[in-house]
Amino acid sequence: MAESKTLHDAFIDELRDTYSAEKQVLKALPKMVKAASSPDLKAAFSNHLEETREQVVRLEEVFASLNEKVRAKHCDGMAGIIEEGKSMMEEDFDETAMDASLIAGAQRVEHYEMAAYGTLVAWARVMGHTQAADLLEQTLDEEKAADEKLTTLAEGGINQDAASVAHPDGDNEDADEDDDDEPAKPVMKAAAKKKPAGRR
Ligand code: ZN
Ligand code: FE
Ligand code: FE
Repeated sequence: MAESKTLHDAFIDELRDTYSAEKQVLKALPKMVKAASSPDLKAAFSNHLEETREQVVRLEEVFASLNEKVRAKHCDGMAGIIEEGKSMMEEDFDETAMDASLIAGAQRVEHYEMAAYGTLVAWARVMGHTQAADLLEQTLDEEKAADEKLTTLAEGGINQDAASVAHPDGDNEDADEDDDDEPAKPVMKAAAKKKPAGRR
């Protein structure tokens, strides 16, 4: 009878999954560079493309440090995130809405990677795979920095530019104090009606 797989097996599986994820990101990023209009956003994507190339090599070093063959196992999670990004890029958004949406998609990618590397680093450390842990931690730090850079770009003007196109004269309904149509009320009434008070 086969023995149960261990955390070490799970670790190797996760490494293969993450190797696949990085390779998918490597293919997606050039399309995002092209789709972006803001020069700063283009530069951020290009820069992260270079980093991602290094991250793929770094993962190969991690496999080597564990005497494992370099192998990818298709990452369905990243495939789904990238698929959603593709559909988004096919939408007819104005340039500013496209930039804001590209950031939204890219941050999903970064957060997914941060989750993966966070686990990989913790597992490598707890099992005493120090060299692997150090390499993986370098990548984790890069993913966090990439995510923060995207937040800085979004909040440093890209979201505002997109909002200004969406609401050119500041025609934000919430900002109009004398507006007497309050969407909250009907919703609350409807909810109240639904209550099956005293019903058996
Ligand atoms: Zn181990
Ligand atoms: Fe990455
Ligand atoms: Fe990344």
